[in-house]
Amino acid sequence: MSGIDLRSDTVTRPGPAMRKAMVAAEVGDDVYGEDPTVARLEAELAARAGMQAGLFVPSGTQSNLVALLTHCGRGDEYIVGQYAHTYKYEGGGAAVLGGVQPQPIPWDNGVLDLETVAAFIKADDPHFAKTRLLALENTAHGRVLPLDYLAAAREFVDTHGLGLHLDGARVFNAAVALGVELDAITRHFDTVSICLSKGLGAPVGSVLCGPTDFIARARRWRKVTGGGMRQAGILAAAGLYALEHQVARLADDHARAARLAEALEALPGFRVIPERTRTNMVYLDLPAERAAALAEHLAGRGITAGAGSPMRLVTHLDLDDAAIDAVIAACRDFAEAAA
Ligand SMILES: *Cc1c(COP(=O)(O)O)cnc(C)c1O
Repeated sequence: MSGIDLRSDTVTRPGPAMRKAMVAAEVGDDVYGEDPTVARLEAELAARAGMQAGLFVPSGTQSNLVALLTHCGRGDEYIVGQYAHTYKYEGGGAAVLGGVQPQPIPWDNGVLDLETVAAFIKADDPHFAKTRLLALENTAHGRVLPLDYLAAAREFVDTHGLGLHLDGARVFNAAVALGVELDAITRHFDTVSICLSKGLGAPVGSVLCGPTDFIARARRWRKVTGGGMRQAGILAAAGLYALEHQVARLADDHARAARLAEALEALPGFRVIPERTRTNMVYLDLPAERAAALAEHLAGRGITAGAGSPMRLVTHLDLDDAAIDAVIAACRDFAEAAA
């Protein structure tokens, strides 16, 4: 067992039972549509999301990319928060590969003000790109978007004739935090991208869910972007295992993050950003220099943390209560040494 890693919930490693499921997976060539385990995973997630079809892809980035390329054509645009993953952290893929223009707008912790969105919808005029889509993210940097906001966003896009995509990399965290089934969230959207490799703890993969005809077109884009995989059932089996055994336990990650936040907030010189501490993430408001010093101090204790400012600490499957205690103790030493 290596040390404690707080950088992201992507660092989890598959445990023995998940590996056993992977080894036992029935497989076929999924580009020919012949992998039964991939088909099962796609159907299972689509059903949970209340959607007609699913598409297994290697990463969340590719899932969002394929969604954007399917919703929007060359010269179209999507409206998106300026700190959203689909805008800021995916290399501008839809613009690079699809001639799709993003229209970033203020983010407000993931809630895009709908009047502002309306103001950015372009008129039908050859000067402008054609506005096609609104893209939201949930959880958004750990924040759960309110269900009534999602309902309002649905009504809004219907009024304005736009599509609505959810980057739901961590949408299961949102569902568990709210105590609702997945489809209570996803029913408001046309399409949703869900990561298996974050809090759910699978090694690889995401699933894009949506209407049958949309997913058929998305399947083309998956192939074009190099995401057609062959005996991918080995990976899908990990996803199925995660869906069966590792969804409800996200509540443990949330409880540990809350406990961590509370303990750190009490330390001299530490400030937890309250509006950014939700689900499995804790954000520390430390000046860049102190964040770097803290990361170095933690590294000396076998604890890996990003040195960003704000500093993000993420709980996950590979962190138990003892790990959280060790992090709190290490931070206390740091705070006392500085005091
Ligand atoms: C991680 C993440 C993605 C992309 O997933 P990858 O599998 O890392 O490409 C997309 N959106 C959000 C919100 C994420 O956190």
